[in-house]
Amino acid sequence: MAGIGKAKERCPVCDASRTLCMCDELPQLELKTKISLVIHHRELLRSSNTGLLALRALVNSEVRIRGQARATLDLKDLLTPAYRTLLLFPSADAVELDRRLVDKERRPIQLIVPDGTWRQARKIHSRQRELEDIPRVKISTPNHATFQLRAQSRPEGMATLQAIAAGLQVIEGAWVGAQLMRLYHARVARTFSARGLLRENSEWGVR
Ligand SMILES: [Zn+2]
Repeated sequence: MAGIGKAKERCPVCDASRTLCMCDELPQLELKTKISLVIHHRELLRSSNTGLLALRALVNSEVRIRGQARATLDLKDLLTPAYRTLLLFPSADAVELDRRLVDKERRPIQLIVPDGTWRQARKIHSRQRELEDIPRVKISTPNHATFQLRAQSRPEGMATLQAIAAGLQVIEGAWVGAQLMRLYHARVARTFSARGLLRENSEWGVR
């Protein structure tokens, strides 16, 4: 049919357009560290979201959705003693997520990662009462990304996938960090190629 090109086809597995589909690039990482992504429901539909992509690569991970009508998000059940839980948010009292912090305890770490804008992350930090006593951690790794991020980027100035990669690089080691950064760079490359292929007027930064 005229007018429907390759760029309009969608992947049956991930539902992304063929140009943005990352299925053939996904590592499957089974880690002791658990990543729990808390995402605003509006973020779910954005092609620029990278948090969900990170989760597809991480076997031991889960997602919780915020901001849906009539549904109050309660993260209490995430807080099991099986994990030492940390919230990735650069509040005034946040401590640097570094090797020294990781080595303080033998329990595996659960890193709760707010996905989305500064504003959305701040709400998770300030409004989820059950997370009140969870230590805040931050990542100060300088962001060398040459790719232009969306105007409202994450607190660290990184895409969510980059932030998770940086965190897991510290906790799980360089190899894991590199696997996720490779995925991130592949995603950025796809975004660029999609920009060349598509003439749709949409946001093409990644978050
Ligand atoms: Zn796909």
